[in-house]
Formats: sequence, C-alpha cells, structure tokens
Amino acid sequence: MLDFVSLEDDLTQEEQLIRDTAREFVDERVRPEIGEHFENGTFPTELISEMGELGFYAPNLEGYGSPNVSETAYGLLMQELEACDSGLRSMASVQGALVMYPIHAYGSETQKEEWLPKLGQGEAVGCFGLTEPEHGSNPSGMETYAERDGDGYVLNGSKTWITNSPIADVAIVWARDRSSEDDPVRGFLVETDRDGVSTNKITEKLSLRASITGEIGLNDVSVPEENVLPNVSGMKGPLSCLTQARYGIAWGAVGAARDCFEEARQYAKDREQFGGPIGRFQLQQEKLAEMATQITLAQLLAYRIADLKERGDLRPQHISMAKRNNVRMARDQSRVAREMLGGNGITTDYSPMRHMANLETVYTYEGTHDIHTLVLGHDLTGIPAYEQ
Ligand code: FAD
Repeated sequence: MLDFVSLEDDLTQEEQLIRDTAREFVDERVRPEIGEHFENGTFPTELISEMGELGFYAPNLEGYGSPNVSETAYGLLMQELEACDSGLRSMASVQGALVMYPIHAYGSETQKEEWLPKLGQGEAVGCFGLTEPEHGSNPSGMETYAERDGDGYVLNGSKTWITNSPIADVAIVWARDRSSEDDPVRGFLVETDRDGVSTNKITEKLSLRASITGEIGLNDVSVPEENVLPNVSGMKGPLSCLTQARYGIAWGAVGAARDCFEEARQYAKDREQFGGPIGRFQLQQEKLAEMATQITLAQLLAYRIADLKERGDLRPQHISMAKRNNVRMARDQSRVAREMLGGNGITTDYSPMRHMANLETVYTYEGTHDIHTLVLGHDLTGIPAYEQ
C-alpha cells in the first residue's frame, strides 16, 4: 500500500490497530459487493451496526461510549473507509462528525445520554439538515424556521441533498428561530417519525450511488423545547460541525486516490500489450510517478493537520486548504488511473471510475472547491470575496 515516505512507521499501536481493523473490515465485508451497490444505488445498511460495534462513528470524541482516539487514528479510519468508497466514508462522517459531534459539543446532558451511545453503536442513524433547495453554498440564507408554540416549537421548511435522511431515526435540523431577536440559527433534534416530517429519496444520482440521499420536508412539525441544542446559536453551530467533517474528508480523499493508484499499478504490471506489460512503457510510468507524488504530498498535509488538531492549533482555514487540495488531487488522479485501465477502466469491475464519479460529490459537498478557494483568499488577503 502506497506510503512512499514511510509516514505509517511513526504510528502508535492504537493507530495501527484502527487502520488495520478498518482495512480488514472493508476488504472482507464491503469491497466484494461495493460495485454492485454502486450500480444498484444502494447502501449496505446491514453493516451500519457492525460499523458501530467496530467504533467507526466519532471515536475521537470523549465519553458516552466514545474512546477518544487520536486525530491521526480518526484520519486513518476515514482514509481506509474512503479507499473502499466515498459513500462508506460519508456514512461515518455524517453519523460521527455531523450528528454525534454537535450533540456532544452543544447538547444537553439528557440529549447526550439519550443519543450518543445509540448513534455510536449504530443502533440509531442520524442525518444533518443544513442545505436547502435555494441555499447551498450560502446556508445562512436558509428559509427553514421555528416558531414558539406553548412550551415547544413548530418547524416549517425543506432541506435537500441530505445524506441518509430516508433511513435516519433523527435529523439535526438547522433553522431560524423566529421567536428570538435577529432570528438566530438554532439546531433542533427532530425524530423522523414525528407528524409532518417527510424524507423522500433522491434517486437520479450519477455520483455517490452507494450512499442514500434524500430531502427533509417539515410541515408544521412540533418539537418540545428539550429537542433544541441548548448550547449554540448562530451559524457557528453548523459551520463547526462542517469543520469536523471536512477534516475527515481531507484524509478520506487520500484513501480514494490511493486505491486508484494501487489498481492502476497492479494493472500496469498485469496487462500486456505489444509483447509485454504496459508498465514497461515510460508514458505509463510517468503517470504512476506523478500519482504517487501527488498522493504523498496530500498525505503529508493530512498528517500535519492531524498534529495541529491534536494540539488545538487547527484553524478552519487549514482544513479548507486540505479539503480543497486533497479532493482535487483525488479527483484528478482517479481520472489518470481510469485512463491507465483502458476499456476495463469504465466498468464497476475496477474502482477508479467509481471513485471518479464519487469524487464529483466530494468536490461539491462540505463547501465546494470554489468556496474553499474564497475562504483561503479571504484568509490570505483579509478581504472577503463572497460578501455582497
Ligand atoms: P450552489 O451553491 O448553487 O453552487 C453552484 C456553483 O456555484 C458551484 O460550482 C459553486 O462553487 C458556485 N458558487 C456558489 N457561490 C459562489 C461564489 N460566491 N463565488 C464563486 N462561485 C460560487 N447538505 C447537507 O446539509 N447535509 C448533507 O448530508 C449533504 N449531503 C450531500 C450529499 C450529496 C450526494 C450531495 C451532492 C450534496 C450533499 N449536501 C448535503 C449538499 C452540499 O453541501 C451542497 O450541494 C453544496 O454545499 C453546494 O450547494 P449547491 O449544490 O446548492 O450549489
């Protein structure tokens, strides 16, 4: 497995164990059928609780059943899951970074005790409702709102492109609270079996097909006061969750690229044309050399942000750079790998084209490549380009 500058030599035993557990799980339980799931547009839901038992959901959190592993260990986990499929990593990212993290960081003691162990074990599935049909890159324009009704709230609005909403037990819905001054954004825990909640599946996807995506419709949905996340108000709530998830994506994308590289390297040795393996041609070797170099550079960035996160010095702008760079790298290199596989490369028998299709979503969600460019531009010049 490509680790050209021996970064894995410095891993602790715990980190090695987590990497190996994820690698083994993926190879034995998911890889054999992932092409079929991608073709059929299905997710292996029977593995959700198994992933929980293996500790794949937010193991970097502390307490409530989470073991508080190192940020490198968490990154390696994301890398191994996405080396299989971005849909598998998305399942763990949403459940851990976008649902468990906000409950852990901003929830009441009762909310934490009720939800964190269940979500951590995969006994319940959560989803994160921020994006709306008319508000994607600028979620602060959201129209979903909450109004006071007696002791609780009534929610109205619609969310779209929500990973796992059709199979979720609970949604974290971000909505404007009209009962407070300036309509601050608040987080609401909405059980999906409440009256007025609908979660239609989006079926037309050509990317991230082995992941379930849907809408959340909220039509006069009543929730009690105790379902509000009490300890956060404003866009800091959803944005801080996205920072956690993007950290995992910066690592995960390296896994997808590495898998494409390994597939292409093996193919270059096995496939014979003009009387020998195509890997003896300099044109093919140049592609492998460039791919290995780009993957190694992305790995270095991932390991560095892990260290910064561990010691509390990681800024969201660091994560923007890593998400932006590593996903673009993976998207570019998956295409080169696909090319090296010739006609076979366009099938689901090999991983590169599946990764390539998936990476279109990864390039777009959790802040598009363009938006992270603007975040960096803002940080570097002090001038925000995205404000009107
Ligand atoms: P838009 O914001 O309309 O952008 C369209 C284009 O315009 C993009 O290229 C963008 O970069 C560009 N653009 C926008 N503003 C600017 C600007 N100021 N300057 C330059 N260019 C600009 N959301 C959730 O809340 N929860 C989820 O679980 C979730 N899962 C997803 C799963 C999938 C499969 C997909 C595809 C999306 C998911 N999303 C989710 C939504 C995702 O985060 C949004 O699609 C993303 O934020 C972009 O929003 P948009 O699609 O509305 O594009």
